[in-house]
Amino acid sequence: MAEATSCVQCSTPLQRQSIGSVTGEEGVLRIAVADFPVLVCERGHRQFITRDFPRKLLEQLAGDKTGLPEGKKRGLLFKKLHCGQCDVLLEIEAASRSFACDVRPEEGAALHVELTLPVYTCPACKCEQLRERGEIEGLVPTALAQAFRGAGILPPR
Ligand SMILES: [Zn+2]
Ligand SMILES: [Zn+2]
Repeated sequence: MAEATSCVQCSTPLQRQSIGSVTGEEGVLRIAVADFPVLVCERGHRQFITRDFPRKLLEQLAGDKTGLPEGKKRGLLFKKLHCGQCDVLLEIEAASRSFACDVRPEEGAALHVELTLPVYTCPACKCEQLRERGEIEGLVPTALAQAFRGAGILPPR
């Protein structure tokens, strides 16, 4: 899809720029994208380089980027996180850790993304693990949307 040439808000010409870092958070997840490419008009409005860029980025972030196993939630009403390997109840304390990955939502240079997540260490088997994969994946779209809003990037029309 071709890049737009004029601003959706004020119709002045657009130029490609990159934002040093866009970051968003949702629940336990923090996302930071480095050198995020946008189109900027003469009045400073920012928009995505293509309409489907945010969707492609989201697709690229699907699946595991951490290489760590997931814990399992157990319990009917008050679900608690258990070790996925030996089933011991995991302690509440978790160490926050960042996981870097490169994604390619368009041809050309990769985008560097950092996901920061709580990592739990099983008190019994010492296995390091994350919360359930589905839970984390469910946070990604909102964290990304928040990052774009925070950077003032207009949603595609
Ligand atoms: Zn504009
Ligand atoms: Zn364990």
